[in-house]
Amino acid sequence: MQSPLTFPALHASHAGIWMATPDGQVRTVGKGDAVGRAAETPMVMLNAPLVAQRLGYAELSGLDVLELFAFVHPARFVVPTAKGLANVLGITPRQQPVTVINSSVTLNSFQGLSPSTLETKTLKQVQGDGSGNGDGDGGGNGTEDGDGNGDGGGVNRNAGVWNDEEVPHLLLSATEKLLATLADPVWPEREGAWDSAQALMRVRWPWANIVLRHLAKPEKPERWLFARLPEWEETAPRTPPRVVTLNPDAVQAQLASLVGNGAETRQGQRDFAQAAARIFAPRARKGEPNMVLAEAGTGIGKTLGYLAPASLWARNADGAVWISTFTKALQRQLVREARRIYPDPESFKQKVVVRKGRENYLCLLNLEDALQGGFAGRAATLAHLVARWAAYSSDGDMIGGDLPGWLPTLFRRNGSTALTDRRGECIYAGCPHYKKCFIERAARASVQADIVIANHALMMVNAARGRDEVSRPTRIIFDEGHHLFDAADSMFAAALTGQETVEMRRWVIGPEGKARGRRRGLAARLADVASYDEEGGLAIEMARIAAEALPGDGWLGRVAEGVPSGPVERLLHAIRTMVFARDESNLAESGYGLETELADPPPAVVDAVADTQVALEALARPLTLLGTRLEAMIADPPDWLDGGARARVEGAMASLGWRIDTVRAWISMLARAVGPVDADFVDWLAIDRFEGRDMDIGMHRHWLDPMKPVAEIVLKPSHGVLATSATLRSGGDWPNAEARTGAVHLDHPAEHFSATSPFDYAAQAEVLIVTDIKRGDMAALAGAYAALIGASGGGALGLFTAIRRLRSTYARIADRLARDGLPLYAQHIDPIDTGTLVDIFRDDPHASLLGTDALRDGVDVPGASLRLVVMEQVPWPRPDILHRARRLSYGGTDYDDRIIRAKLAQAFGRLIRSAGDKGHFVLLSSAVPSRLLTAFPAGTSIRRVTLEQAVAAIKSGLSPVTNIRQDDANTLQEGNPI
Ligand code: SF4
Repeated sequence: MQSPLTFPALHASHAGIWMATPDGQVRTVGKGDAVGRAAETPMVMLNAPLVAQRLGYAELSGLDVLELFAFVHPARFVVPTAKGLANVLGITPRQQPVTVINSSVTLNSFQGLSPSTLETKTLKQVQGDGSGNGDGDGGGNGTEDGDGNGDGGGVNRNAGVWNDEEVPHLLLSATEKLLATLADPVWPEREGAWDSAQALMRVRWPWANIVLRHLAKPEKPERWLFARLPEWEETAPRTPPRVVTLNPDAVQAQLASLVGNGAETRQGQRDFAQAAARIFAPRARKGEPNMVLAEAGTGIGKTLGYLAPASLWARNADGAVWISTFTKALQRQLVREARRIYPDPESFKQKVVVRKGRENYLCLLNLEDALQGGFAGRAATLAHLVARWAAYSSDGDMIGGDLPGWLPTLFRRNGSTALTDRRGECIYAGCPHYKKCFIERAARASVQADIVIANHALMMVNAARGRDEVSRPTRIIFDEGHHLFDAADSMFAAALTGQETVEMRRWVIGPEGKARGRRRGLAARLADVASYDEEGGLAIEMARIAAEALPGDGWLGRVAEGVPSGPVERLLHAIRTMVFARDESNLAESGYGLETELADPPPAVVDAVADTQVALEALARPLTLLGTRLEAMIADPPDWLDGGARARVEGAMASLGWRIDTVRAWISMLARAVGPVDADFVDWLAIDRFEGRDMDIGMHRHWLDPMKPVAEIVLKPSHGVLATSATLRSGGDWPNAEARTGAVHLDHPAEHFSATSPFDYAAQAEVLIVTDIKRGDMAALAGAYAALIGASGGGALGLFTAIRRLRSTYARIADRLARDGLPLYAQHIDPIDTGTLVDIFRDDPHASLLGTDALRDGVDVPGASLRLVVMEQVPWPRPDILHRARRLSYGGTDYDDRIIRAKLAQAFGRLIRSAGDKGHFVLLSSAVPSRLLTAFPAGTSIRRVTLEQAVAAIKSGLSPVTNIRQDDANTLQEGNPI
């Protein structure tokens, strides 16, 4: 059944391009040769889109070993690099030298030449001597003459790093290992593989033939995905929690048991746990939750600090505590920590549930549609690999769960979003997979759980649009509480734009023209309601007619060309004209977004607003009527409305309510456009653009203070709320924390608690402000990054406030660093999702990563992989219309300073994550006002230096940590969570 692998392997990095034949020959090649060869012969490669980018070729097809991995080991984690693949498959570097043929040999002469006739280079055996591949020969394969920089740019075999020249061999070995697994009798992911491979063959997956040659046909038919998934059980609603009071000694005992192994708990952590416990006290008055604001510096151990009272209260009161985070990294950490409370895997499954927005989960009905012909080409291949994953997934979470983040990007995200329920088209009990649906299962599990791990956005969506009053969170812990304001700002914003209105039209009417797939309009989704209830049926038809006034496909082109169709497109055209006329930013020249205030609109906008109001009212009326008809049906159910149909009608009511709210919000925005100002809101008009092209056009409205609705909808109905973070005061003081968490809007004042970090920042970190890089000098900026990253030997996180400068820097330095053995990755450039980029960065201490905002606060990389943070400039707030309004209301320059200090503190916070971490924080700015420097922890050394001095300081490193504060010296051990 098996056959030897006969394909060559291709590897491309910034340092060069290498190919290997199955018989062991490796050669360097030029870009043209590599592209030509890849077009002729299928080649094994790792991450084809990344290889294509390195070759400067848009589309490169081949045998991507990551796709094979996803088939053989679905739902298994691997860092998608040579090192990551080798680690997970147990492949070690070859001990013999690798023979490398230089690129002067033509492709046609490559095979069949004996090594003696070739110019060869021999890899230096680096294992044991600690020297590296140095600065190489500049030609791409830099394998000789290490420059002796040892632990800097040198490659250390002991760290499991693979030289570029070795990677093609590794790819062939990995392929052989994965194919051999297919014949392994104890391969745990065998079930369903045969059928899946057959289906993949039909959609022309390049690996399918090879896989089928190695895979035995099962003797009896195997369970397919939909048969394999378990059904969720309906359970009785949970009774309200008992009234209990937590005994302080019991809280401390619970904390000690969670910290475990006889380790002493720290005083700061003990105090924190006691403060957190206060939110579980019985509430004194309705609408007045026990709220605690707790700032706890990095290293306090706040996760276990709040899990201790939370788990105790959940057990004693038989209630659920919701823990909300902003980043996925903290969610993952929480899941790990919660295992200490429930070490038995079965109880853990019942007691701890992770909840995310429904758009994160795979929709089985969408998947079935994709598998049955709804998707074509590469998207169909992705759908089959996702189906294979779904059968082994623990929770069906496609974003941040056990679906490898890199899998959709291998397919250029082609089709992955269509597999989730992004548009609220779920048909609930009408769906054949309802009883196995991942979303429904997670929702039911959370009703009975003790600890529900969620995110800020979901908490707010649930509170604003939750279907079930009884299961609403009443005890809430907001970790990363400094992000509450931003999460609320997006959640409670409204936008009347082309893209939003197109979505609304599709939701009401369904697919039009040549659109494919199962997506259906309101009439099809509620056909049984329409046939039973005449008034309801009429409302659906009226809504369909009214939705035809909304923009349809091709609206952007019509609006840009001045031939809008319908009242909303006419409004968008008038807005576009007005924004271009009034913009003073000159950003049109650079191709990015434009905006203008909604003040004194010209007649064209006023007229179009009036027509749009009429059109939207015509849509809101029948939708509202339909909502009332559905409510009446639930109140007085007809005979045919069994449990399933009822659940479906209730589901339709929930998504209908959300649509009605949206249309009403649009109508109120339009009233503001031609009426008096509402001081609670900030309104503006904008054109979103990318690289000179319009992406969306419309009207935007944000709350001036988005914590007002949060206080009403989330805080006041709850009994206890803890908001905590290492930077809760966000560069200000307690009034700032009160404002940013919504506590300022409560009648009952929140309690305050603070504990400083136990880390010795004076010994562990140093801030260097580099003063001789001129602002706007792109070449100098890139040169500074290259010098700093070179000095630290990688391990650098580079933070930018503008994508344009990030791209320019990356383009100038990536090749140079790669030749020194220092790989550089970048958000917005590499075709890899951000989570995977961080995984790659964490896994390779020589790698560096450039990125923007998401990395400033979403990277948790303790240890040697992150030892340098470089910020390109002081993170001044973007001077947009929304910022200007808030700045005016909240203190002018002081408001700006608080924002900047918060951003600096968050960025600095990436550097020191554990007691053993050491590193430098570099700010490239000739002018940093001293008042901003309080952003850094007390005791941190701060120096203003030249670039040369900064490079020297980084090269010489920091002195060993000697000054851990006494309280923590014996407890800050590895594994003690922060
Ligand atoms: S119940 Fe809804 S979300 Fe779940 S699989 Fe069916 S349609 Fe998709």
